[in-house]
Amino acid sequence: MSRKTYIKMKNLFKRIVQKLEKEKAYLNRLDANIGDGDHGRTIATSFRKALEKLGSKENLDIGVFLEEMGRNLVFFGGAATGPLFGTAFVEAGKTLEGKETIFLEDWTKALENAEKGIKRIGKAKVGEKTMLDAIHPAVLSLKESLSGNDSLKKALKKAGQSAQKGMESTKDLISKKGRSSRLGERTKGHIDPGATSSYFILVTIIKTCKKF
Ligand code: ADP
Ligand code: MG
Repeated sequence: MSRKTYIKMKNLFKRIVQKLEKEKAYLNRLDANIGDGDHGRTIATSFRKALEKLGSKENLDIGVFLEEMGRNLVFFGGAATGPLFGTAFVEAGKTLEGKETIFLEDWTKALENAEKGIKRIGKAKVGEKTMLDAIHPAVLSLKESLSGNDSLKKALKKAGQSAQKGMESTKDLISKKGRSSRLGERTKGHIDPGATSSYFILVTIIKTCKKF
């Protein structure tokens, strides 16, 4: 990867860390409603540490960069979400090895593979009030855009909007996975923290990459 691309990728993750730091209290609050209140802190810290561990390996291509970040996230990520987010980045990275430019087809494959990884590790299905409920609609939206020949810009905008709707839809769902599943019916009426952080991460990636 060129030095320019490396700096852009590092910058992308700096922005993700900034966004998660900014939303930390909100995410903790969402998690306090139906879990143990640590989601914002856990996720902001694990992304920050994963980025610090990356150091200055400038020879990584976009795919390998994401795989390395993913492995660091699995390593540093506490709680349920470290391995889930980490695997998502590893799996997305696998589809992007050797690429310098990411087209709509690449975005679609990468997010689709990330979703598969989350499902493999967490064994959750769409509709069980998890991060998948934000990510899956974005994957569907990208696929639709791909077959409908949308421009990349339009496709990414739609994917972000779909993730937002998916995140909001978790309010009406009953948790079937993770810590919050113990509360069953009582989780209804609360937005899922993991779906929210997934949405924040995805829109940060979309917004930053549109400017690349
Ligand atoms: P913990 O529950 O260990 O404290 P966090 O608070 O960091 O973990 O994360 C909670 C979030 O993890 C939930 O809001 C949900 O979105 C996500 N989650 C939990 N279990 C799963 C799973 N099996 N598959 C996908 N996402 C999950
Ligand atoms: Mg928690």
